[in-house]
Amino acid sequence: MDKKQQLEENLEAIGMRLEEGKITSDELEMSGISDADLYEMRDNGIITVDSDKNVALTSKGQGEFNTLIRRHRLAERLMSDILNIGGESMEKHACEFEHILSTDITESICTLLGHPTTCPHGKAIPPGGCCSNRRRELEPLILPLDSLSAGEGGKILYISTRDHYRLDKLTSIGLMPGTIVKVHQKQPALVVLFDETTLSMDTEIARDIYVRKLKN
Ligand SMILES: [Zn+2]
Ligand SMILES: [Zn+2]
Ligand SMILES: [Zn+2]
Repeated sequence: MDKKQQLEENLEAIGMRLEEGKITSDELEMSGISDADLYEMRDNGIITVDSDKNVALTSKGQGEFNTLIRRHRLAERLMSDILNIGGESMEKHACEFEHILSTDITESICTLLGHPTTCPHGKAIPPGGCCSNRRRELEPLILPLDSLSAGEGGKILYISTRDHYRLDKLTSIGLMPGTIVKVHQKQPALVVLFDETTLSMDTEIARDIYVRKLKN
């Protein structure tokens, strides 16, 4: 691993720890990030260390972390949803991808995946320029169920909700990854068909259900 990659891995590790709560330089040292590395990041304006040794990201550091973790988590989505690669292999390759993806490629992947907001572990994916513009040059391969038109169908890939109650409820009626679901009508209310079931559904719920569109 070259120097730049090592620094990026350190930033990623620190940022992910900070997503969970506080972290001190001593704790980081125990997890393998040396004092010398931390000083270098501080001198480069990436992190601050206060008198209690609490480490924080500067706004520059936060921006760089968001870019990295966005690539990492989009790569995870790409592997789990399109390539069916999971587990440790997914983790390892996601960590390689994050160092090499350009902004353009990252935005293409994000668009193909339907601008996902969470990774397969349920962690947030920071949005990129493509997510707000919703540029239409690329037809997404994966999109939220509420984006399908009446008559179109898709196979559920994942449901992006942190609401466990809602997830359990959807699963219990048979809406889960692998289910083929068709949009019956969108007006006056969204109605979907799957298996033998006809269900009227809130658009807000449909927005969390990501499908791979089926060719009609
Ligand atoms: Zn990594
Ligand atoms: Zn993840
Ligand atoms: Zn996007």
